[in-house]
Amino acid sequence: MAIKRILIANRGEIALRIHRAAREMGIETVAVHSTADADAMHVRLADHAVCIGPPAAKDSYLNVAAIISAAEITGADAIHPGYGFLSENARFAEIVEAHGLIWIGPKPEHIRTMGDKVEAKRTAGALGLPLVPGSDGAVSEIEDAKRIAEDVGYPVIIKAASGGGGRGMKVCTGPDELETLMQQAGSEAKAAFGDATVYIEKYLGNPRHIEFQVFGDGNGQAIHLGERDCSLQRRHQKVLEEAPSPVIGSEERERMGGIVAKAMADMGYRGAGTIEFLWENGEFYFIEMNTRLQVEHPVTEAITGVDLVREQIRIADGLPLSVRQDELEFRGHAIECRINAEDPFTFAPSPGLVENFHAAGGLHVRVDSGLYAGYRIPPYYDSMIAKLIVYGRTREGAILRLKRALEEMAITGPKTNIPLHQALLDVDDFKTGNYTIKWLEEWLANR
Ligand code: ADP
Repeated sequence: MAIKRILIANRGEIALRIHRAAREMGIETVAVHSTADADAMHVRLADHAVCIGPPAAKDSYLNVAAIISAAEITGADAIHPGYGFLSENARFAEIVEAHGLIWIGPKPEHIRTMGDKVEAKRTAGALGLPLVPGSDGAVSEIEDAKRIAEDVGYPVIIKAASGGGGRGMKVCTGPDELETLMQQAGSEAKAAFGDATVYIEKYLGNPRHIEFQVFGDGNGQAIHLGERDCSLQRRHQKVLEEAPSPVIGSEERERMGGIVAKAMADMGYRGAGTIEFLWENGEFYFIEMNTRLQVEHPVTEAITGVDLVREQIRIADGLPLSVRQDELEFRGHAIECRINAEDPFTFAPSPGLVENFHAAGGLHVRVDSGLYAGYRIPPYYDSMIAKLIVYGRTREGAILRLKRALEEMAITGPKTNIPLHQALLDVDDFKTGNYTIKWLEEWLANR
């Protein structure tokens, strides 16, 4: 191993997750943190810690100069960006490499291509992935927009090329409102992302969100690690994820997984990636690719037995993939609950002092969290404070185990969404796996 010391450019549970993988590989870790995170668990556990700025992310976790300096001061030889923050910033990846450090992530040019959704769609189409029908690239003229919308049929969705986080999208139901919505989408995209470019695609009425985990070695070898179903969402934010998807059988997994793995091999993709699809009436439609580790990666780890962070570090170090496609087996079922410090039904954030914390345990139960009694959840960042992942031989078994584990989790002080997860597990549509990306919001509105 060339990598001896990894700087973790992130916080919270994912910083801890990366620390754990590094430790098990005999690699030292450097935590960087804002002043608000000085008492965080990953900071306590890391071999070295450097404060890189005040609470606001733009001054700390997004502060490229401070992060690079921290790597130089501590003698780190590699940087792992986690998810969010700088993880999909191609420029940051280039700066890391320009400083002679190893970037634990995809090639910067692939991050850049996939970060532009028009480019990403064009690339995915050229690689043979099925697309949502729509414009071939950006649309600026209203006449073109009208023609495309007529071709694919209303409703259509107008999306920002530089969009992200579910923002900058407009659903259009007929030609009368097309011009107004195009203008609105363009100016909102300009304001939010500094880029007014928009494109159009068919609006799918009631799809599921199904994504494939992929890994490439950067030299033309690539594998898929099956799919995750992330359809339980609120405001385009995932709430609970599972693997495998309740609607995908092994033949379909092999067929679609084969297509995505081949696409990644042809691209020369390096590291971990996720290809996101909408799925409706048995058909997959590519929407985007995330060129990083995902929050929900543990459900894939549970059913494949592959440590995805270890795999990322190995590949960044120049080693080959540790498993071949034909050695991978998908066994059993895993479910992850994202546990947030928020009111379970109004969703108002609830940061503050954690008076007591007891993590669930037992067979096939995993808790990824930096919480401890006496920890103060800072108000400046994402509200996710823990992930509870359970595994069972069957989906039914996993649900029973999840119920048991949620009962054991004790977090006192801030409110959490544990009661929401508990309520969900009792709903028939969840038990039968009969849900789409619209389901959770409809259920919340009617309860
Ligand atoms: P972002 O990068 O902002 O997350 P995505 O392209 O991944 O944008 O889309 C986010 C969400 O918006 C999807 O998970 C889905 O719920 C919805 N969405 C996007 N495109 C479509 C479409 N063509 N039809 C229906 N819903 C869509």
